[in-house]
Amino acid sequence: MHKLFIVFLFLIPFVSFSQHTKRCGTYEYWEMMKQQDPSLAIGEERINREANEWMVAHRNERGQSSVITIPVVVHVLYHTDAENISDAQIQSQIDVLNQDFARLNQDTILTPFVWRTTAANTGLQFCLTSVTPDTAPSTGIERRYTSNESWSNFNEMKSFSTGGLDVWNRDRFMNIWVGNLDGGVLGLTQMPGGSPLTDGMCISYKAFGKIGDLDPQYNLGRSATHETGHWLGLYHIWGDDGGACSGTDYLNDTPNQADNTFNCPPFPQTDECSPAYPGIMFMNYMDYSDDACMNIFTNDQSSKMHAILNTTRVSILNNVASCNGSIAVSLPIKLFPNPVTDEILIHTYFNIPASIDFSLKDLYGREIMHKAKSLSSYEKVPFDVRHISSGVYVVSVTSNNYTITEKVIIAHR
Ligand code: ZN
Ligand code: CA
Repeated sequence: MHKLFIVFLFLIPFVSFSQHTKRCGTYEYWEMMKQQDPSLAIGEERINREANEWMVAHRNERGQSSVITIPVVVHVLYHTDAENISDAQIQSQIDVLNQDFARLNQDTILTPFVWRTTAANTGLQFCLTSVTPDTAPSTGIERRYTSNESWSNFNEMKSFSTGGLDVWNRDRFMNIWVGNLDGGVLGLTQMPGGSPLTDGMCISYKAFGKIGDLDPQYNLGRSATHETGHWLGLYHIWGDDGGACSGTDYLNDTPNQADNTFNCPPFPQTDECSPAYPGIMFMNYMDYSDDACMNIFTNDQSSKMHAILNTTRVSILNNVASCNGSIAVSLPIKLFPNPVTDEILIHTYFNIPASIDFSLKDLYGREIMHKAKSLSSYEKVPFDVRHISSGVYVVSVTSNNYTITEKVIIAHR
């Protein structure tokens, strides 16, 4: 924890960008973090492998069956009045996310016909959280004046001690910091698997929401749509390979694409990676086209985001209650399988040392089994239930004063 803190907050994050507008700094920011801490790259491979396994196992689920609402906190850091954006501007950003992720955006008509069936309603929604991490009522917005005219060390935005605002528990909230980003950067995100202290995205006040004083090319709230895609594990559609055809976003239904797209080209556009019609999907949210010219997440992108929400970010699934005023459990823990035959597998996604308390009770509340276990980090912890008779039980897993409770069926073969 302390080592990570030092590395993340003080050694790295000076990503230097040229002064013209930079749509997204996620790739450079994340590459720099991985150079400083090679364990992040190993973690990223594991995260993508687990996400792929989930996608294979849930091939026919696209997430539309039930809506998942993700609690959001917006930390506003302002030096000028213009940077102290209004509540209405912030709400307009949440509205955009909810339209784009549900494919209720008004510009779906601009998606080329050939890709209409590839376009996804992701089933994901967003709310400004109605409670703080301490369970006090909240608007989901907090503000702080900063003496910084702009931010070049983006992680400094994420800590009160460096003039920013501290992260709210990333196991429960999607954190967004809004401020004046240096180098013309509109947004950047820490990909899944990074430090809990810096988890979330930074977005320029000039590209946040769809009302207020906004950059005319980026005034429809699509920067946050794009960055939320990163936060849920999506990569740039062209594979960040500097214009080659060798890079990938690891998904099948997005065409191979040489480089990023700027401005607003007419359809179709072909390149050396996708030389034939329909060419490249430059209107995808994970490209760099103008806000007015992006309008689609694909089914595979939706599936990948659900995979991340069911693995690395599973604690968010356990906290949707923060959207309606109550506080729910928020442990990065999942129980497999259910029904269970021989052993219950507790899949944990802590990336710091933690301990869990496992308890199995019958339906009368009598404790049948109780075990404690210390974890170094990501682990799959088995609990043998072969000696317990078949039936319905209640399993509780407790860590850091949070408890997850789930009904489990034990059905011996
Ligand atoms: Zn990006
Ligand atoms: Ca490429």
